[in-house]
Amino acid sequence: MIADAHCDTLMLLVGEHPKGTSLDQALPGHLDLPRLIAAGVGLQFFALFTVPDQGTDLGLRRILEMIAQFHRSVAQSEGRLYPVLTAADVVPQPGRVGGLLAVEGMRPLGGSVELLEVIHRLGVRSGMLTWNERNSLADGALDQTSGGALSAAGRRIVAAMQRLHMALDVSHLGERGFWDLLEQTEGPVLASHSNVRALCDHPRNLTDEQIKALAARGGVIGMNFYTQFLASEGPVTLGTLLRHIRYISDLVGPQHVGLGSDFDGIGSAPDGLGSVADYPNLRGALDAAGFTAAEAEGILGGNLRRALHTIFA
Ligand SMILES: [Zn+2]
Repeated sequence: MIADAHCDTLMLLVGEHPKGTSLDQALPGHLDLPRLIAAGVGLQFFALFTVPDQGTDLGLRRILEMIAQFHRSVAQSEGRLYPVLTAADVVPQPGRVGGLLAVEGMRPLGGSVELLEVIHRLGVRSGMLTWNERNSLADGALDQTSGGALSAAGRRIVAAMQRLHMALDVSHLGERGFWDLLEQTEGPVLASHSNVRALCDHPRNLTDEQIKALAARGGVIGMNFYTQFLASEGPVTLGTLLRHIRYISDLVGPQHVGLGSDFDGIGSAPDGLGSVADYPNLRGALDAAGFTAAEAEGILGGNLRRALHTIFA
């Protein structure tokens, strides 16, 4: 069953879709619960994303609203959607989708370990210190002019995340912060939705050295479907995405590749991968590219599950 380490559907539910809609209904956009189940997705990360100009208070309110929306969707789903809270929840359950809440950018928490503990109690199990901008914890990938590593507050948050067995996600984090985070932590680290810098030179993508370091820690890199992170120019197809998967596989092994679609957060996806309904095309492309069945299963979900199992244990 497929596992996807990033989507922004909760942002749309809270900010754009009509009030009262929830994940268990048919939604416009890239995914909803019925389509996830039909596509064989068994584990879906749901990002709690807030834009920088919402400010700290409004950002925190938005995070809480998205968490509430998720739990309302769980309650209305008649068991088809359940929250992923422990290692046992990572095991695939046919016909059901495990939803994993992941905070994307912790500026609204203001460096508070107490607030981190609160959202952990509310079901959040993964987190990125920054979005693209710099905040009080670290520099983001598009705001690295300070050249700064993690701040003291950033280090406290990271230490608390390790204590709470939350997944550490380095997507969006600036490079110095990336190395700083690896240095002060143990175990698998995720890059939930980032691609290969050597193939597409964008600061949101990972260098070879970063990919090697994540692999050495048993981490997984979720392939982002956003065309701007897949190629700098030209048409972007499933073949373009396969080049990124092949590159990482050749560099460190296919067991470190996963999916981080960024569905409902991206303006453009490769031809042939327009929504979760197109996952069979990706499966076919992996087979055609010569990946074994076991390798393809790992890339489509098994690798991410393995890493989460270790993190939650
Ligand atoms: Zn993102």
